[in-house]
Amino acid sequence: MRYDLCVRNARIVDERGTWRGAIAIHDGRVAALFADEPDGPADEIIDARGLPVLPGLVDIHVHFNEPGRADWEGFECGSMGAAAGGMTTVVDMPLNNFPAVVDGQTLAAKAAALSGRSLVDYLLWGGLVTDNVDTLGDQDAYGIPGYKAFMSNSAIDDFPAAGDGVLYEGLRHAAASGKLVAVHAESETLTAHYTARLRAAGRIDRRAWLESRPPLAELEAIGRALLLARAAGARLHIVHVSLAEGVDLVDAARQAGQQVSCETCPHYLTLDEDDFLAIGPRAKCAPPLRSRANVEALWQRVLQGKLDLIASDHSPCPTADKLRGEDDIWQAWGGISGVQLLLPLLLEEGVHRRGLSLPLLARLTSANPARLLGLYPRKGSLQPGADADLTIVDPGQEWTVSAGALFARHQHTPYEGRRLHGRVITTLVRGRVVYKDGEIVAPPGHGRLLAAASLPRSND
Ligand SMILES: [Zn+2]
Repeated sequence: MRYDLCVRNARIVDERGTWRGAIAIHDGRVAALFADEPDGPADEIIDARGLPVLPGLVDIHVHFNEPGRADWEGFECGSMGAAAGGMTTVVDMPLNNFPAVVDGQTLAAKAAALSGRSLVDYLLWGGLVTDNVDTLGDQDAYGIPGYKAFMSNSAIDDFPAAGDGVLYEGLRHAAASGKLVAVHAESETLTAHYTARLRAAGRIDRRAWLESRPPLAELEAIGRALLLARAAGARLHIVHVSLAEGVDLVDAARQAGQQVSCETCPHYLTLDEDDFLAIGPRAKCAPPLRSRANVEALWQRVLQGKLDLIASDHSPCPTADKLRGEDDIWQAWGGISGVQLLLPLLLEEGVHRRGLSLPLLARLTSANPARLLGLYPRKGSLQPGADADLTIVDPGQEWTVSAGALFARHQHTPYEGRRLHGRVITTLVRGRVVYKDGEIVAPPGHGRLLAAASLPRSND
């Protein structure tokens, strides 16, 4: 057999373990794995030099802001950052692009606008908002995995929060149509109450942002979402859980038989509230950064396998929208760009510092998110027949984060100056090298719009 490409001298990693060998690739798919050398020649050889080769990462939570706000990021920059971060599939949220995805028409327009724009494969989330529950089914085209809903103000005017009635009806629709509902779980009642009080008191300091969104607001919303989803019989996913206690609520529900999953993000595993007070607007996000004790407790949950997956919640904005919060924290955009740094941060904070194994890293960043989308093992694995999406990393290479070296359209990061062990060397999407040694080496448009399979399950 003659192969298109062979990655030899690899430390092949998947969620089950690591082993030495070679990966033969043909027609964009993994053709075979070999313990030593492949059984035939290849047109192109990549020598992995003994470095780990992981399944390409699947990031189910990005905001690339296109169409309508591509000046904030756009799919071209966003997907280049993803490729440079070892990601080969991303799932774009329905808001921050304009108009937001709330019906069949806006979804169709978004899918058309993104054609030929992405370097990596992608899917689109649908949206559940105040007034679209009766027409949710109109979004079921274009392979959406489900609908994103906010339990608190989204900060985007055309994506209003879903109250409990709407959320419950949306969950019932999702249960019937085999879709997920992904919720931003913070209580509107509590966050609005504290925000109003703090603003009335004239508070504009950084700590006011933390006080306006206390742990209680997140835990109350997670508990309520679990209750509503259980009553509706729906499959629930909770995005960006910031609290170890929040993970425990989800885990307890799962132990009791509920179909629920949750994600956390690299910023909740890296930065704490003292970092936020020191860094300021660049580290503003919602839910906000939490205590150092919580960061460590969250890591414990990761290492115990209680978290389903880690996603970036890549949420960029023009630098000016961060800077205007320097003197008044309410004025800053809340969101952290993480798509390019998720894997390096997990290599540093997890693998290097806390003993996170590479197979568990692969489970959290590729296998489990692919399962959630119903795309495993075609995505999220290196099994023969899988799409040849892979990333070669050097876990020992030390480097310093600098915003200027990111592919983001607006180069600001709360991780500026951070020393990391662990770097992405090469990324392949469906057998094509798209990123290598700091350079993007394929044109935008290589990425394809994928369709999620319906009725994904959390625990299979
Ligand atoms: Zn988000």
